[in-house]
Amino acid sequence: MQTLNQIKYLRAALNADKNHGGQVVLVPTMGNLHEGHLQLVRRAREVADIVVVSIFVNPMQFGASEDLSSYPRTLTEDQDKLDAENVDYLFIPDVPEIYPNGVDNHTTVANPSLSNMLCGIHRPGHFQGVCTIVNKLFNLVQPSVAIFGEKDFQQLAIIKRMSSDLCMPIDIIGVPTARAHDGLALSSRNQYLNNIDRVKAPIIYQTLQKTRDAIAAGSKQYGTLCESAKLDLKAAGFEVDYFDIRNQKNLTLLNNNDSDTDIVILAAATLGETRLLDNIQISI
Ligand code: AMP
Repeated sequence: MQTLNQIKYLRAALNADKNHGGQVVLVPTMGNLHEGHLQLVRRAREVADIVVVSIFVNPMQFGASEDLSSYPRTLTEDQDKLDAENVDYLFIPDVPEIYPNGVDNHTTVANPSLSNMLCGIHRPGHFQGVCTIVNKLFNLVQPSVAIFGEKDFQQLAIIKRMSSDLCMPIDIIGVPTARAHDGLALSSRNQYLNNIDRVKAPIIYQTLQKTRDAIAAGSKQYGTLCESAKLDLKAAGFEVDYFDIRNQKNLTLLNNNDSDTDIVILAAATLGETRLLDNIQISI
């Protein structure tokens, strides 16, 4: 694996590979890699011959009160893990390489229609930061495929929409969420949980499962199901940002008795200082 931190060297290396007919796949990450990230990398290996992973903790997608400076950075361990997965290129630019004119002066990309809901309401500007960095990485790497986790379901929906709206010739592939033995979705932020909260944290997935099971059993009382799920989470000590049942494709909120068939149940809730995010898809 070659580790590169400058755009010009990444481009030169990839151009040489592409001239030999190589198909490139990109896996964008913020590092502190866990099994969920590695499943994305393994999927990448299956779909194209040149695998590029990026690690960049993107300041544009963090709010002023968020954990940008304390976000876990573990480059040496990450490099070892990616090496073991036969990754071809690891791209680790610093902030001035990506934002040479400053973060605030950079051109931005946004999709307001899918961003002004769910996490977008609780993290203003977050998805504009995500769209901008992903767009920029797409332009740098020019992959034919890019891989993202279904764990961040809204992010995946926004990136698919961005890429189709802007006619990007890139296949966007989603990979199912990797979980701990007790069901908690793996996340770099799980390590912020104290021991007591770590035991409680899987309740978010259990609540999603309970709601999914009710829908599978025929309930279309979507509003009522969400209210009851929120009460369960609050009773367990979570502060709930949202618990919604929506259409998978356009993220429209489902009302009681709506007839949508491809549904996603999404939750975001905080335990202590740690914001947890999870979702379950169901087709009926
Ligand atoms: P991050 O480093 O958190 O920005 O995540 C980089 C990529 O890994 C994103 O596409 C995430 O959706 C994906 N990802 C993070 N956690 C998981 C997980 N538990 N299972 C699958 N994909 C994940």
